[in-house]
This record gives sequence, structure tokens and C-alpha cells, in this order.
Amino acid sequence: MDDRVMLVTGGSRGIGAATALMGARAGYRVVVNYAANEAAAARVVSAIEAGGGAAIALRGDVGSEAEILALFEASDRFGRLSVLVNNAGVVDRPGKLVDFSTERLERMWRINVTGSFLCAREAVKRLSTARGGRGGTIVNVSSVAAKLGAPAQYVDYAASKGAIDTLTVGLAKEVMDEGIRVCAVRPGVIDTDIHASGGQPTRAFDMAPSLPMKRPGTAEEVAAAILWLASDAASYSAGAILDVSGGRSIWP
Ligand code: NAP
Repeated sequence: MDDRVMLVTGGSRGIGAATALMGARAGYRVVVNYAANEAAAARVVSAIEAGGGAAIALRGDVGSEAEILALFEASDRFGRLSVLVNNAGVVDRPGKLVDFSTERLERMWRINVTGSFLCAREAVKRLSTARGGRGGTIVNVSSVAAKLGAPAQYVDYAASKGAIDTLTVGLAKEVMDEGIRVCAVRPGVIDTDIHASGGQPTRAFDMAPSLPMKRPGTAEEVAAAILWLASDAASYSAGAILDVSGGRSIWP
């Protein structure tokens, strides 16, 4: 597997970083994409190299088509793509739809939706057996917010993840006979920096008493599901969206 590249968007922190580290342990050469936090990306690469793996940190904002194109071209120079983990995503400050600005909505769609679509497009171009590729896997990172709606928090974020669910199902069918499996995970409340970036640094633990398992999940618990969906062990799963939410999405 040492010639196979796993490209993780947003691989510098949180779920993406855990996926990058686990991917390297599974034998992938890992592209650790990041937006701004070069030091965090470098730490992930160093940890992979210390464990005997191969990784490269590549900056690139998935909210920019030009930067996505440059990211995939640089990734091609590192090795042949086998797995895309479409993980980069953002939240915003908690609020109600009645107060949302066009700027807020457009940022959300641009990064979470258009970014994921364009990364998937670039992956399909490289993986499709109809285009000379040797197949592979795309694992999208959705959220249980897609089911729950995140009222009075970020309905826009939840809707962006609803789009990811639909992308997963539609693209899975579209490229199934081109050697590409498309799946997704729907994490619940996971202990990462994303809550602080939305102005709620203690959110994951504040919510713990109301969560079915009375605790948030870890990035590693989500990464394990992503790695399984990416692997040949999941060879009969396509268009599958796996809840990794500690039972949250089935709780009343
Ligand atoms: P996080 O801890 O905030 O990390 C975000 C990662 O994405 C960082 O590596 C960041 O790079 C990168 N990133 C942000 N904007 C980017 C952009 N425009 N272009 C490229 N990279 C970008 O987030 P997380 O909690 O791990 O979330 C990862 C994914 O899981 C997201 O799609 C999120 O919606 C989803 N999710 C998270 C939770 C949760 O509770 N944590 C629940 C459900 C779903 P820098 O380090 O350079 O900033």
C-alpha cells in the first residue's frame, strides 16, 4: 500500500489530524492539507514520520477553487491518489436564521459545500477507471446536525452537511461502476477545536450530560470509522453514511 496516497483536507487538527495519523499507520502516504495553521500541520507530519510513515503538509483553502487545484497537483507529485477524506469544514457563531447575513451563508456554502464538491471532482478525475485511474474511495465528513437541524445554533451548518449527505448518495451511484466507492461519516459532538472556532470552547463538555453516552466523542473514534470506510474491509459499502455520534442521532 506504500504507493497509495490518502489526502485529508483539514488534516492539521481534530478529526482530520486523527485520520491522517491513523491513515499513516494503515500504510498510506498521507497528504495533510491545512488552511492556516502550518505549525499544527507540521506536527502531524512529524508524528507520522517519527512512526516510520510518509506525509507532506500542503496549505490550501478548500474555499478557493484555485487553491484546490494547486493542492491536488502538489499531491500528485507526492504520489498517486487512492483515498480522499473530504473533512475540512467550519461552523459559525451560534445564532438564529433570522439574523444570518448573506456573507455568513456564502462562507458556509463555499467552504463546506462547494469545497467538498470540488475536492470530490478532482478526486474522481484521478481515481475513475473510466479516465485511466485505478479506483479508490472518497469518505465525506458530514454531521448528525444534518439530521437534527441545529436549531438556534447553526441551521446553515446543518444544511451544509445535509448537502454532504446528498453528495455522498448521488456521487456514490454516479461513480460506482468507475471503481470508486463514496461513503460518509456523521459525527456527533466530538471534542475538537471546532467548538472554540464557533465561540463555544467548552461546548463539547457542556453538552455531555445531555448526550446519550454522557460524553463527547474523540477525534480518534471518528477517524477509526473513516479508515474502515476507506479500506477494502468496507468493499460492499457504497453511499453508506455511518453515524459516529454516541447514539445522539437515534436519541429522542
Ligand atoms: P477543527 O478541529 O476545527 O479542525 C478543522 C480542520 O479543518 C483544521 O485542520 C483546519 O485547518 C481545517 N480547515 C478549516 N477551514 C479550512 C479551509 N477553508 N480549507 C482547508 N482546511 C480548512 O474541526 P473538526 O472538529 O476536526 O471538524 C472536522 C470535520 O468534522 C468538519 O467537516 C466538521 O464539520 C465535522 N464535524 C465535527 C464535529 C465536532 O463536534 N467536532 C461534529 C460533526 C462534524 P487549520 O488547522 O489550518 O485551521
